[in-house]
Amino acid sequence: MFKNLINGQWVDGASTIVNINPSDTRDAIGEYALADAAQAREAVAAAHAAFATWSLTTPQQRFDILDAVGTEILARRAELGDLLAREEGKTLPEAIGEVVRAGNIFKFFAGEALRGAGDVLPSVRPGVGVEVTREPVGVVGLITPWNFPIAIPAWKVAPALAYGNTVVFKPAELVPGSAWALADILQRAGVPAGVFNLVMGRGREVGQVLLDDSRVAAVSFTGSVATGRLVAQACVARGAKFQLEMGGKNPFVVLDDADLNVAVNCAIQSGFFSTGQRCTASSRVIVTEGLHDRFVAAMAERMKTLKVDDARKPGTDIGPVVDERQLEQDLAYIAIGQQEGATLVAGGQYIERNAAGAPGYYLTPALFTGTAASMRINTEEIFGPVVSVIRAKDYEEALHLANDTPFGLASGIATTSLKHATHFKRHAQAGMVMVNLPTAGVDYHVPFGGRKGSSYGPREQGAYAAEFYTTVKTGYTLA
Ligand code: ADP
Repeated sequence: MFKNLINGQWVDGASTIVNINPSDTRDAIGEYALADAAQAREAVAAAHAAFATWSLTTPQQRFDILDAVGTEILARRAELGDLLAREEGKTLPEAIGEVVRAGNIFKFFAGEALRGAGDVLPSVRPGVGVEVTREPVGVVGLITPWNFPIAIPAWKVAPALAYGNTVVFKPAELVPGSAWALADILQRAGVPAGVFNLVMGRGREVGQVLLDDSRVAAVSFTGSVATGRLVAQACVARGAKFQLEMGGKNPFVVLDDADLNVAVNCAIQSGFFSTGQRCTASSRVIVTEGLHDRFVAAMAERMKTLKVDDARKPGTDIGPVVDERQLEQDLAYIAIGQQEGATLVAGGQYIERNAAGAPGYYLTPALFTGTAASMRINTEEIFGPVVSVIRAKDYEEALHLANDTPFGLASGIATTSLKHATHFKRHAQAGMVMVNLPTAGVDYHVPFGGRKGSSYGPREQGAYAAEFYTTVKTGYTLA
């Protein structure tokens, strides 16, 4: 039984949950404790008490701990990657890549603890000096989704601790394994009691405590738009700081002058890899007229070569969908696309058993053509391996279609034209823009986040994370 970590102690939950492998639903990975609201409040109390000391630790103390965490994660990449692939269903190479990312993030923020900087400047008044410094905000509540079981926790926990905050972390119910492994590593690396607390539990129960408890100064959330709105309302109501990372309906534009190979690679990669379960996935591929038919033919050809199978089997390109609920959602949207009059040119089939006969949530990647921008498959986030192609007359129309969405996380273009690439980078209404690269797959040392309905609050990752995890103080001294 894997327990919660509250005030430096491993404690049983009010109930338990079994972590199931979506590649083989007969495979139970382990039993995990589920905290209730009272235990969540205990964790908040512990984090609140620990803040006074932790916030005054030296940068060296925080560096040493975060660096040790990063070192252990990187050293155990194969084992942690295997656990991640087993509980979430992305392929083993993708899962190992995610673990490496998490390790690198801890190393990066270990350094950030040392680099914490401020400004010193003269006052407009004679004899007065001004200094602008940053301080931690207090207890931060971290609420994470299932699609990046270790990287998203890492990019919230590492900056939170680096800048001197204490943490109550509530992972998604579907992926407690990676969260528990991370908590175990933090605990053994010497994080003092109460500074980092793990409370596995239900969103509406444990997550809600983090939103409502006045001792939680800030909440960082990644998940669905619907839950993000609840987080925002609860935090605004009590004046807590919050940061939201939610959905996307990311466009990938393919112009007539694109390198067809580059365009297809990007669309396959960011449309279907990680089973399309990434908020940066390209779900709308907007192709100009001159290349449209060749692009679609090349996509369909390439899709025939993609192997959908057990996430941990060598050679698998696409693992299973994470669970039955998500599979039903993907299949519902595939049916909706057909009812709306789109043409399903490839994929979209549920396969109940993999090549070895194991039961799982396998779905062949689906490609729609003949789609209109107003169709639900082009306006609503599906979060599965489903891509729609939209035909555009020219670059201007393609850019308009790309931006014609309430979301604004990532936006990509395949083109060999410097003029169009430059124009697109400037005019794409998104937090991240990619030229001749997939929209999914970003660096760990630079800001991550979006505009419009995708995100709210300061960016995550890189040195910009300080905006959320610190608060600025302006000091005046008459010398
Ligand atoms: P997904 O569809 O990806 O599961 P959710 O937004 O439902 O997205 O979940 C993201 C995270 O938010 C999960 O950790 C979940 O438990 C949590 N959560 C869900 N409902 C609430 C809530 N009412 N309050 C706080 N957290 C919640």
